[in-house]
Amino acid sequence: MLFALSGRCHINGRNAGVADSWDEIAVWISIAPDALKATIDEYNVGCDRGHDGIFAKERQYLRSLRTSFYYALKCSPAFLGTIGGIRISYLMEVVGASDNPLPGLYAVGVGTVGWESETYCGVMSGSTLGFAISSGRIAGENAAQYVLRKL
Ligand SMILES: Cc1cc2nc3c(=O)[nH]c(=O)nc-3n(C[C@H](O)[C@H](O)[C@H](O)COP(=O)(O)OP(=O)(O)OC[C@H]3O[C@@H](n4cnc5c(N)ncnc54)[C@H](O)[C@@H]3O)c2cc1C
Repeated sequence: MLFALSGRCHINGRNAGVADSWDEIAVWISIAPDALKATIDEYNVGCDRGHDGIFAKERQYLRSLRTSFYYALKCSPAFLGTIGGIRISYLMEVVGASDNPLPGLYAVGVGTVGWESETYCGVMSGSTLGFAISSGRIAGENAAQYVLRKL
């Protein structure tokens, strides 16, 4: 994955490269200079128009890459988990299409949905582990009460 920037700023580290031209950056990241130039040109045209037709990047972040120095960062995506799936009540009961609890069926953790916004909240690190633990406890307590009521 390549992140490219332009303008004067300071980056240190073995995964960051800096150059006067995109051709030098292309050599550093081992791709054809023409291919990188076409990508950058396409992105810059999108900036000029105020619309990123490829990734729909928000307009406020559309800044053209025309002023050296140019920087490239080598990054690797990391997959930490998924959130969403089974709908639950506040008692961790699995609920059906009409929000009706399915008796004796509980779900917890990141396989459930409705307790988190559309994406993992980076400013509240620990929310998924926290929910895994607290939802497990709540489900366990309610499952035990369900069984006791059946006895
Ligand atoms: C590298 C990394 C870093 C992370 N850092 C953070 C962090 O800093 N803060 C944070 O909040 N979250 C973090 N997370 C996410 C967090 O670890 C998970 O969201 C959390 O562990 C989910 O817990 P869970 O109990 O819902 O699911 P899981 O931990 O996935 O537990 C599900 C369990 O079900 C078992 N299972 C699956 N299928 C079956 C089956 N058919 N039968 C029986 N058992 C089955 C699995 O083996 C597993 O033990 C990180 C995740 C990773 C990978």
